[in-house]
Amino acid sequence: MDEVTGAQLIAEALKSQNVEYMFGIVGVPIIEVAMAAQAAGIKYVGMRNEQAACYAASAIGYLTGRPAVCLVVSGPGLIHALGGMANANMNCWPVIVIGGSSDRNQETTGAFQEFPQAVRSSIYGRPGATYIDIAGDMVNAKIDRASVRFVSCCPAPPVSQADSREITQAVRLLRAAQRPLIIIGKGAAYARAEKEVRELVEVTGIPFLPTPMGKGVLSDDHPNCVAAARSRALLQADVIVLLGARLNWILHFGFPPRFSPHVKIIQVDLCAEELSNNVRAASALLGDIGAVVRQSLALQSTLPMNYYTAFHHISELLPKDCIIVSEGANTMDIGRTMLLNYLPRHRLDAGTFGTMGVGPGFAIAAAVLEQTQKSAQRVVCIEGDSAFGFSGMEVETMCRYKLPIIIIVINNNGIYSGVDPKTWKEMEKMGDMTTIAPPVTLLPEAQYEQVMSAFGGRGYLVRTVEELRSALQESLDNTQMPSLLNVLIDPASDPFKYHLATKNNWEN
Ligand code: ADP
Ligand code: MG
Repeated sequence: MDEVTGAQLIAEALKSQNVEYMFGIVGVPIIEVAMAAQAAGIKYVGMRNEQAACYAASAIGYLTGRPAVCLVVSGPGLIHALGGMANANMNCWPVIVIGGSSDRNQETTGAFQEFPQAVRSSIYGRPGATYIDIAGDMVNAKIDRASVRFVSCCPAPPVSQADSREITQAVRLLRAAQRPLIIIGKGAAYARAEKEVRELVEVTGIPFLPTPMGKGVLSDDHPNCVAAARSRALLQADVIVLLGARLNWILHFGFPPRFSPHVKIIQVDLCAEELSNNVRAASALLGDIGAVVRQSLALQSTLPMNYYTAFHHISELLPKDCIIVSEGANTMDIGRTMLLNYLPRHRLDAGTFGTMGVGPGFAIAAAVLEQTQKSAQRVVCIEGDSAFGFSGMEVETMCRYKLPIIIIVINNNGIYSGVDPKTWKEMEKMGDMTTIAPPVTLLPEAQYEQVMSAFGGRGYLVRTVEELRSALQESLDNTQMPSLLNVLIDPASDPFKYHLATKNNWEN
């Protein structure tokens, strides 16, 4: 008969649940449990107080998403561990505390079967502490290995998405926001949602504020990080996206005077009880942060692009050594923060005089120099649609000399902002456009790409992120001829709202 002890079974059951670390202080009856854990390949760290052992084990749970064990004796050992268990629960961090108690008399419940449940309840739903009590005599009791059945390893927690109607509502709120803010909490860190959160920040251009342990999900030196202006950001935000952070004392409960009394909260949390805690959420998104952010990104990508979305994808594709020529109003302003330069003399824009119409000439000069020096650096000319109009005919010059310049027209149908084709048609029906059309507007959805194709270069009409990426990639691959990408963005996408007065006049 192949005999195993209770201690061995505990250790092997833990190992089969992918538990890798055990912290504790041994004493009768759990010394053998620690030894068996080591024999099973679990790292055992002997600590000096159960409280610190439990802090350590719960930190492993936070950092890896898989619980570690805190091993304690009964009575005082467990009492000391309680501080760590409470801390883990409040932090929403998984941990398994195993305490050895006195020998069984009558109340055994087949404790080994409870291991997978303990692992599961520590990491499923809102993560937290679980406790297993082992009767002392079971630690050294022997049974036939053939009679043991291990439960298979508990899989990672299931991931849930939010109600799609709530997502629509949240995206609507966010699009209408004047001063939106994203707060990144340690729930986002635990969720390992850094990729999704980065994309959300970068395609929307919204500033973010990390909580103390939300720091690092996106790096503190990210251009959108407003940690240095925390109080001002909290107070002035009109819509806040709360990603895995609670409106507790760390965030002043979400109350005035630290927050605006009118702030609208879009709250993402996997714990239903947490939603609308302290402040009623304008939009409550119950689900996993990574999944919910992906849902909202998918919805946003069906809507017209804004400046930030367009620049985010352009910046991902542009080579670091390219020469960036830029002019326009919002196009140049926002482009300055989102399209980075890594080399000197690689940026040419409207300059000291704020002159519009300089772009194509500058781009031609840079491309001619490149050609003479036989260098492979690309010239990318990023133009507002109005700015492009000033010297657009130089496209013929580019084609005549086969200069592989890439012109990207960020087209919002106007200066600062414009109107959509439907509104334009309605205006036309109302009468004399010279008395009606807002002075900032240009012809909606003008097909500037045809100016390029008229002379033999490649013209692209771009509406979606996919079209933008593939057109830009094709243009970068083409070193023989210039290209023009006419990127139609949301005509109301004006982060500075210069147009508000005009637009309100029209709407009234
Ligand atoms: P902070 O201290 O950074 O404000 P909190 O501990 O207050 O963070 O809040 C973390 C929140 O994150 C908790 O309400 C928890 O339920 C939630 N949370 C943890 N993991 C996830 C996840 N994967 N998806 C969504 N919410 C999560
Ligand atoms: Mg918090």
